[in-house]
Amino acid sequence: MKIIDAHTHLGYFGYPFNVGNTLEGFISLMDEFEVEKSFCSNSDNKQVEDAVKKYPDRIVGQAWEDPYQGQAAVDHLRYVVTELGFKSLKLHPLVNGFLPYDPMVFPLIEEALSLNIPVFVHSGHAPYSLPWQIGQLAEIFPDVRFVLIHMGHGHGIYIQGALDVAQKLPNVYLETSGMPMHTKIKEAFDTLGGDKVMYGSDIPFHHPSVELQRMKCAGLTEVQMQKLLYDNAARFC
Ligand SMILES: [Zn+2]
Repeated sequence: MKIIDAHTHLGYFGYPFNVGNTLEGFISLMDEFEVEKSFCSNSDNKQVEDAVKKYPDRIVGQAWEDPYQGQAAVDHLRYVVTELGFKSLKLHPLVNGFLPYDPMVFPLIEEALSLNIPVFVHSGHAPYSLPWQIGQLAEIFPDVRFVLIHMGHGHGIYIQGALDVAQKLPNVYLETSGMPMHTKIKEAFDTLGGDKVMYGSDIPFHHPSVELQRMKCAGLTEVQMQKLLYDNAARFC
């Protein structure tokens, strides 16, 4: 079965993570697990820009923008999408320290709307990245597609929160990386329909062998697996 990985990173992440990869190691890991394309971001966008130039058919560029950079972030987003073929905006409210619905964020979302690209947002950590907070932003911009990266992450209440937000808002989607409950993947398919959940690994923070195993034991039908591992992410790249 063909696979698209909807959430990965490239480069080295120091303390407190102390993990990293090289571009060539990244590509060989994709080959090993038969991953056709990977959505990829890094707060240092340059590394992803170089990777997209070298492997345009394998790496799907995601622009990691910090709203505190103001117009420079908006200009950079437009540049990488229109000139380099990046496919989405990525926001990390926890790392960059902002509330998802802070008006400071709006110019970036308006730019994403005019570029017709989806917005991927890290979810699962207080005080900045809770599913309901991202939902507040998604309600302000109903014509923009938002993906809750990690679908609530490791906290059961936040995971359910991600499902609740995706059920309430037609423009909110879920990505699975780092979320430990295989049962919630099946539950998401049962309650949200077949088109809202996409597989991701979060390489190099998690390993695809572990992440894919959770997909395989979730109890999905073959048609649902095809949507989870490929079709649902294909619509975002
Ligand atoms: Zn990540």
